[in-house]
Amino acid sequence: MNYQLFKESIEKAQNIIIFSHVNPDGDTLGSMLALQIIINTNFNKNPQTVVLGKVPDIYNFLPLIDKVKTTDQIVSDKYDLAIAVDIAAKDRMVAGIGIFEAANLRMNIDHHKTNIGYGDINFINPDACSAGEVLFDICTELGLKINADAAKCLYTSILTDTGGFRFENTAASTLKKAALLVDLGAVPSEISRLCYESKPKPMVMLQANSLINAQFELNDKVAYVKISDDDMKKFHAQNDHTEGIVEALRQINTTEVSFVVKEIDQQTSKVSLRSKNIDVSKVAAVFGGGGHTFAAGCTIKKPLKIAAEKLLEEIKKYL
Ligand code: AMP
Ligand code: MN
Ligand code: MN
Repeated sequence: MNYQLFKESIEKAQNIIIFSHVNPDGDTLGSMLALQIIINTNFNKNPQTVVLGKVPDIYNFLPLIDKVKTTDQIVSDKYDLAIAVDIAAKDRMVAGIGIFEAANLRMNIDHHKTNIGYGDINFINPDACSAGEVLFDICTELGLKINADAAKCLYTSILTDTGGFRFENTAASTLKKAALLVDLGAVPSEISRLCYESKPKPMVMLQANSLINAQFELNDKVAYVKISDDDMKKFHAQNDHTEGIVEALRQINTTEVSFVVKEIDQQTSKVSLRSKNIDVSKVAAVFGGGGHTFAAGCTIKKPLKIAAEKLLEEIKKYL
């Protein structure tokens, strides 16, 4: 990776825009906001940050989250530099893709192994636990200053994408970098509480209902649940309130693969896949999605029931 290119492209750019991915999570938001702060404090420039869809309420504690705009609020649609963070594939920028494509220079900072390197400049490290870690490495290489707010954002990226330092992407180097971020001002107990112990009631109730209604296949090796629009309405749940359910299903000791299929509309279903051993990014790729070996996702243009059947068929090939 040519780190100097990062510095040069920011120095040359007058106006910069940073994109997070649709259905934003802690990594994409944390790395986007950290990047905004790092560019601001080290280069004295003010990038615009963009979010596609609603920011989950739990991430409202992140610095500068109140300055984030949605694509329809962007006034200037021509940027010198557009940066995508934690975005496995361009279509995950949804309505933002036009602005990204129209920029003079496009940068791609990511850690998904299915990322094809769609930027003019790409910083992709599939061994990094999070896009936040890739950004941390860029800062280290270039000697860029990380202030307490940026440290808080980067720590949130690393914490959430490692599932609270529990997933296999947690290496000794991950913990060392997290420790450095604590030295720089991130407070672990505070960030953990905000990320994991501040769930809204509808989210907890929806999760309980989903676990009760989970279905099991192949001697319980596959655990899954279908979440309909009616379920969402019944618990007054918001879109991001499905987060964590697929991990809860994987926690069962017999589970090899878990998945959640959520109804987007009568013809569209959104899928989250998790596994302990098999490569679910391959399963997601069959349906045009992608992700990581043990955590992947896709959107299937089929009703809930049929989407679940198709997924089961595909997963059975691996078990
Ligand atoms: P999720 O289940 O939404 O938390 O996603 C799990 C992982 O798969 C994340 O790293 C996502 O970035 C990735 N992912 C989800 N959906 C897609 C998709 N349609 N295309 C590529 N990667 C995806
Ligand atoms: Mn992400
Ligand atoms: Mn990520």
